[in-house]
Order: sequence, then C-alpha cells, then structure tokens
Amino acid sequence: GDISAADAALIKRRGEVLGPAYRLFYEKPLHIVRGEGVWLYDPEGNAYLDVYNNVASVGHCHPHVVEALSKQAGILNTHTRYLHETIVDYAAKLLTKFPAALKHVMFTCTGSEANDLALRIAKSYTKGTGVIITQLAYHGLTVAISELSPSLGDYVERGPQVKLVPAPDTYRIDGDVGAAFAAGVKQALADMKAQGIKPCALLVDGIFSSDGVFPGEPGFLKEAVEAVRAAGGIYIADEVQPGFGRVGPEFWGFARHGLVPDIVTVGKPMGNGHPIAGAIMQPHVVEEFGRRSRYFNTFGGNPVSCAVGRAVLEVIENEGLAANAGKVGEYMKAGLQRLRQRYDVIGDVRGAGLFLGLEFVKDRRTKEPQAEAATHVVNDLRRRKVLISATGPGANILKIRPPLVFTQEHADIFLDATEKALASF
Ligand code: PMP
Repeated sequence: GDISAADAALIKRRGEVLGPAYRLFYEKPLHIVRGEGVWLYDPEGNAYLDVYNNVASVGHCHPHVVEALSKQAGILNTHTRYLHETIVDYAAKLLTKFPAALKHVMFTCTGSEANDLALRIAKSYTKGTGVIITQLAYHGLTVAISELSPSLGDYVERGPQVKLVPAPDTYRIDGDVGAAFAAGVKQALADMKAQGIKPCALLVDGIFSSDGVFPGEPGFLKEAVEAVRAAGGIYIADEVQPGFGRVGPEFWGFARHGLVPDIVTVGKPMGNGHPIAGAIMQPHVVEEFGRRSRYFNTFGGNPVSCAVGRAVLEVIENEGLAANAGKVGEYMKAGLQRLRQRYDVIGDVRGAGLFLGLEFVKDRRTKEPQAEAATHVVNDLRRRKVLISATGPGANILKIRPPLVFTQEHADIFLDATEKALASF
C-alpha cells in the first residue's frame, strides 16, 4: 500500500529538521511505536517480527533491564569520578566473560568511541601508526575511526598509514581462508615497512559484518594475528557486532578463533539499546597511557548505564541466550540451506549462532552479486511484517541478526516468509 498521509507528513518534517545526511530503511519507511521481545508494533498495532536488531539483543524492552534502568535512574546518576559499587561490580562481572589476561574495562557511550580509545591506547603502546582493516570495514564515526571505516564510501580520505586487506570471503576464496587472509595482512605489513610506517594494530570485526558476514572456520584468524604481533602491532577485536553471545556459546567472535586480543571493543547489545560501550584490555597495553594521560568520559560508565549493563548480562545468563543463539542459529541455517536447494538465486548460506548471511547471486558459477533479489526480499518481507536488511560490497547479502530470544517458532515464521518472498521474485 501507499505511504499514509500522516507518515508522509512525518517524513517531510523529519527531513526539514534532521537535514540531508540521514537515511530511512525501506522503499516504504516503517513507523514503529512499541517493542516487546522479538516484536515491533506500528501505530495501528500491527506486529512486525524483528530479524535484524542486534542491539535489543535480549529482546525489546526486557522487563529485567527496564526495571534495573528505572530503579537506578530514580536513585542516582553521576559519573565515574565518585565511588560507586555498581560501576565496580559491573566491570568485575563483565571481565569474567573474557579470557583472564584481559583485566581492565574502560567505559564509553558508543562503539565508535570505544574504537577511538582503543586506537589511542594502541598508538601509545606500540609507538606505531599503521593500522590494518578489511576492505569494507565499519568501525565508527569519529574523524580517526571514519578513516578506518571504508564502508562509509570514497568521501572519507584515508592516510597512507591505513592499509586495507581483502575480507576472508569464504564463498569466493578457494582453499585455505586463513592463509589467504594472512597473505593480505602480510602484504600490508610489507607495504608499511617499505614506506617506513611502524605497525600499530590489526583492527577487525570478529564476524566481518559490513564486509558481507564471514564467520569462517574457527581458528582461521590466528595466522594473521600472529603476523601482526610479530611485526610489533597489536590485535584489536571489534566485538560491537558479534559480542555478548550472538555467535553462540563461545560468546565472542574472537573466542571462536581461540585468540586472546590485546584490546576488545564492545557496544551495541551491551546495554540492549541504552548507550553503553567500552574497551577491555590487557594491562600492559594501557600502562603507559594510564600514567601519562587521564581518562574521563562524562556519560561513559555512569551508575545507570552500569546497572543496565549488569541486568543485560544477568538476562543472557538466566535465559541461556548464548546457548539459544547457537541452537536456533543452527536451525535457521538448516532451514536456509533447504531454501538454497530450491532457489538458484541463493548462492551461499553462512553464519555463526544468530548472525547469518544469505548471499544472492545471478549465477552460481560466476557468483556475480544479485542485488535486486536482496532488495526485493527485504521489501517483500517488510510487507509480510518481517524486518531484515542487506549488506556487502554488492548489497546482495541478507544480514540475519534477530534478538537472541528468537525461538524455532520465530525462525519458522521467518523461513516461511522468506520462501514466499523468493517465490515472488
Ligand atoms: N564497530 C562495528 C563493527 C559496528 O558495526 C559499529 C556500528 N555499526 C561500530 C563499531 C560503531 O558503533 P556506534 O554506532 O555505537 O558508534
């Protein structure tokens, strides 16, 4: 159907006040006013199945999180320069989710800030400036980090110290993906050496989300990380997308590879929608930084945010959501594999836990991206009240990332709607 008069007026007013840089999802933008669990509701009360939201990871408006937030907001909200148990208790609880070598947490409000802070710490520790990222990475929006976010497009200038490497495209690389990825990283290190650039860090998203969702075989990342460390750089694991149980019981993207990062950055699902993010690090990398500079972030790590973060961890534990992500993710993947047998347009199905990619191609032999299929399916699913989006260099890969409270029944609704969307392409 057409856009309602009320929504058309809202779209117009939105453009007037927010300016030209914002984008809305969908050919027919979605107006939502309420959320509960895996469901979102429009003003008429229609329910939409959320298969895309990796922020509201424990479910929209989870009562335990809402209660923790409102309770602490009614008592005190200040910052990290006063003593407060909740800040310390939450930091300690969060650290139990990481390998023992990672011992400090520094709080921020966004993933961008967490990566920005990680980069400053990495530069102070290594005395290097060379950073390796993937070709279509997204790590955030600050001046320093937008340079490390090529998915923003060509308008962002990048200095010679930023080296792009091909993503670990498990669908197109023949043979050993780990060796292929490491070869790109070693080439970048050689380029730095030739240009007199001292290596600083390898910064990668543990599931390569904006590159097209490439979880790959567990362990494949090891060789690249070893090469960077041997050259004097550190490994920063960006867990903003895969973190907090989304990839299954391993809990973190880097953990699937058996790696212990020097710094891990987290955000998005950490507060289930409340803005809390941070960097978790090994003590030696931050020792000099801590001695020479002070760190203060007005909102980062405030008592309300920490109460929310703690409640989110409690829900993940109490409801077994990491295990659920593994179980329901496998069920979804099997369902998508069955669709692949029936629809030639599906070239590849991949994923870890509840983070799946479905790649559309024009021809399974050439693997040429088929973006129209992705656009059709995304918009057709919206009409069927199922919310999803597309990603990747060819905009031809469905990014499937529902809240972790997704059940097999929800998966069946999604699979059934996707089948109908494919049949009508
Ligand atoms: N890293 C990754 C992998 C992300 O996907 C994002 C956000 N899409 C960020 C960092 C930046 O996080 P934020 O939007 O909270 O600044």
